[in-house]
Amino acid sequence: MSNESSTVKEQTIFGKEKNPSSIEPKKLTLDSHIKFRCHPGVSCFTACCGGIKIVLTPYDILQLSKRLGIPSHEFLHQYTLPTYLEKTDMPGVMIKLREDDNKCPFVTPEGCTVYTDRPTACRYYPVGMADFHEGGSRDQEGNENTPEEEKFFFIVREDHCKGFEEDKEWTVREWREDQGVDVRDEMNKEWLRLVMRRKSFGLQATLSEQAKRMFFMASTDLSTFRRFIFESSFLDTYEIEEELLEKIKEDDVELMHFSFKYLAATLFGAKAIKIKEEKIKEKVEQMKQQQDETVEQSVKEYEMLKQSLEQEKEETGIKNKQ
Ligand code: SF4
Ligand code: SF4
Repeated sequence: MSNESSTVKEQTIFGKEKNPSSIEPKKLTLDSHIKFRCHPGVSCFTACCGGIKIVLTPYDILQLSKRLGIPSHEFLHQYTLPTYLEKTDMPGVMIKLREDDNKCPFVTPEGCTVYTDRPTACRYYPVGMADFHEGGSRDQEGNENTPEEEKFFFIVREDHCKGFEEDKEWTVREWREDQGVDVRDEMNKEWLRLVMRRKSFGLQATLSEQAKRMFFMASTDLSTFRRFIFESSFLDTYEIEEELLEKIKEDDVELMHFSFKYLAATLFGAKAIKIKEEKIKEKVEQMKQQQDETVEQSVKEYEMLKQSLEQEKEETGIKNKQ
């Protein structure tokens, strides 16, 4: 399988940037009509579940771990491989294909065994969405707005896919509803914004290793992120409302949304999470102290320099007299 087709599902979540031949060069709206149907009767059934890169969103990981009844770290270990997201240095994961046949571990000849919890990328095909793009205005919390009118849709058509030969017609809106894509979009949008925002900075602006580790932990392993909140000095630093704390203790989806806010605050300085007043004062004090120490040090250095210059002058004077 070519590189192009192996990234087709990735393009459907992240939108398109160039125009490979599998993407039809036509902008669609929610009311545009498409002719497509995928069902066990098509001759290519499950052909698109192999030789492919399926990037997982945080919500995908959450749902698949629940579906399989295992903690997220175990899911990550067993079913995923690390990858970088959308040509950025932000770490994420993709599904680890089976070694023997290079297919998704969840596919059988009868179809997808996790169908109702399948990842976002598998739901999108063949209708991709653009555009969660960089730039644009920002809301009060410093997050970028993505106005509805910036969105458009496009068809991804793989040669081997016979779904286009079926008679069923839908609007893009109906197709998306049927595939449960709208719910996924809502769940994924803040995370996608983080990735796209990072992408807009380009690779010149480097992300520290610590920031990368934090991004990976908060967006892939929610149980560890929860421990980080409740078992580290996190709550000494940030001011979080009691009500929200209670929610994120138990509710994984709330915790996931909170993780996006936390990442926006730490990576991009969004004002979504408040730092405690005393922590800010402490930091200001620390900076002032560092500043004072620097001034003190430079005064000392100046004095020493002056002294050595005077000494030099004195010595030269003595020599001249001799
Ligand atoms: S998760 Fe399901 S739909 Fe997606 S590639 Fe795997 S088997 Fe196919
Ligand atoms: S290749 Fe197309 S029609 Fe065939 S199983 Fe995949 S999505 Fe369905």
